[in-house]
Amino acid sequence: MNLAALHPGSLLTIADLPIPEVASILALTARLDQTPAAEKAKLLANRRIALLFYESSTRTRTSFELAAKSLGATTTLVSDKSSSIEKGESLKDTGLTLRALGAECIILRHPASGSPFVLARTTGLPVLNAGDGMAQHPSQALLDLRTILNRLHLDPTTVHDKSLLGLTITITGDILHSRVARSNVMLLPRLGAKVILCGPEPLLPEIAAGLADGLEITRNFDEALSRSQIVMMLRIQKERLAGLELDLGEYIARFQLNEPRLAAQAPKALVLHPGPMVRGLEISGEVADGPNSAILEQVTNGLAIRSALLVRALGAQAN
Ligand code: ASP
Repeated sequence: MNLAALHPGSLLTIADLPIPEVASILALTARLDQTPAAEKAKLLANRRIALLFYESSTRTRTSFELAAKSLGATTTLVSDKSSSIEKGESLKDTGLTLRALGAECIILRHPASGSPFVLARTTGLPVLNAGDGMAQHPSQALLDLRTILNRLHLDPTTVHDKSLLGLTITITGDILHSRVARSNVMLLPRLGAKVILCGPEPLLPEIAAGLADGLEITRNFDEALSRSQIVMMLRIQKERLAGLELDLGEYIARFQLNEPRLAAQAPKALVLHPGPMVRGLEISGEVADGPNSAILEQVTNGLAIRSALLVRALGAQAN
């Protein structure tokens, strides 16, 4: 692939995003947070942003859309359910059509891993990956990082390769199908964090240890939790299970984050979940709504991070 042809404002994967660039996105996020609404609304005035969604979404789609609107941009949503995609139009043709209509940036969610690269290459536009298959969800990793740094009272603008040194984060659940897990393991260890992946064999094959340096895999949630300051719970992605059968009763007994387990193993741990949650399965309602939970902060940080990604993508100058 000719990477040189990719627009520098794109964010396709977190894997090769240098840490100074992560710090600069977090700094831009902080500056935008301080910018009065009327000023903010001028930053992308008259710019056209297309949201191209081939999979359902609540948080990611809404936050990108609201972020774009708060920056003054015009947005249009194209979803696979109500467009020519249903008639068989290819990603390439849809992308070129959106460009011909004046779109200056495309936000893409797609079930095929790598599709944002295809779109970025064919259109030459800045493309923001809003989740591609089981591969990547880079804006989620950035918003998770912002949530963690805020809770730890660490300055996000000076983030560096030792910022999270001494911190252990356990990610539990359907790791196999999770682009959120993949993006986080490609970012957090680069900031010094220790990451433990936890789940049953079918949802967490041993080979996952190769995703990043220093990753640990365990089937023992209680033990992992007892060593963690942060726990990130993941949904079982029924839409990607492809015939895989799970004993849900056993899963809940071993891997659910509930109040007794949290109180016994990590009463002070910060609880994260990218959503959507299935209450009563991977997480209990009590924990989701409890004092350890930063789940709604993640959502709010999503809006902030995505505002910065749009400003970066379109090269606008924010003071
Ligand atoms: N919302 C996240 C994603 O799109 C996680 C999930 O769907 O469970 O990857």
